[in-house]
Amino acid sequence: MTIIYYNGEFRDDQVTLDYNDRGYQFGDGIYEVVRVYDGRLFTAREHFERLVRSAGEILITAPKTVDEYIEICEQLIEKNQLADGNIYIQVTRGVAVRNHAFPEHAEPVTLMYTYEAGRPLKGMQDGVKVITAEDIRWLRCDIKSLNLLGNVLNKEKAVRAGAVEAVQIRDGVVTEGASSNVYIIKDGTIYTHPANNLILNGITRQVIKECAEELLIPFHEETFGPDELLAADEVFISSTTLEVTPVVQVDEKVIGGPGPVARKLQQAFDEKIQTGR
Ligand code: PMP
Repeated sequence: MTIIYYNGEFRDDQVTLDYNDRGYQFGDGIYEVVRVYDGRLFTAREHFERLVRSAGEILITAPKTVDEYIEICEQLIEKNQLADGNIYIQVTRGVAVRNHAFPEHAEPVTLMYTYEAGRPLKGMQDGVKVITAEDIRWLRCDIKSLNLLGNVLNKEKAVRAGAVEAVQIRDGVVTEGASSNVYIIKDGTIYTHPANNLILNGITRQVIKECAEELLIPFHEETFGPDELLAADEVFISSTTLEVTPVVQVDEKVIGGPGPVARKLQQAFDEKIQTGR
């Protein structure tokens, strides 16, 4: 039996969700996914700082502090004897009779649970295929909102094409994947979309930036288009669950690889995991 955290309590996973929860009816809430390696949280503080920010951006006051969220995670790891996996956290605006406008009196509803998951070793080793797709999402992709329909539809398109990810393109610019950040390497320099309202500033992206700085690999937060994507020396994607995953094919174009820069970053990232950063 899995022990979950629901609205202030640790309990079994047979909770009753209220059908008037605004997360359910409007996607009115935010979430995070935090990685656990060998029973230890990885970059949890950064994830919960982002959770508090996402909540604030949609005018929800996060019910707990960063330290309190971390403490609940530690307890969930312990209660579920989790070694390798993830912790999912979501906070919705709360329960109220259906009306688009914010309810006057609603308490945020928090759900946190763990699930087992191994590292994505095969994709990291061999590289993966991606497709390109139009970025049809809203203009606040910096908020980790529960509204994921644009992401879900593009991810499904990728899966149906036998690919792992959809690289999204808005107005001729590569933004990010449906659930990952996207990078190209040209002449030894890494390029990735700037952290603005059009992408989620991935925590893994921030760790990769740190690794690149330590390895003295130039890291440019600059936009690039689909032509540059196809002409890149290397392409890779990153996320909490994908880590540094090299891309070996974009649509019909075989890029080849995994390349040397992705390999160096994988190694540096692995050291961060081992040392707990
Ligand atoms: N962009 C999107 C749209 C995502 O869903 C994710 C995964 N949460 C990322 C980027 C990568 O973020 P992180 O490295 O924090 O997992």
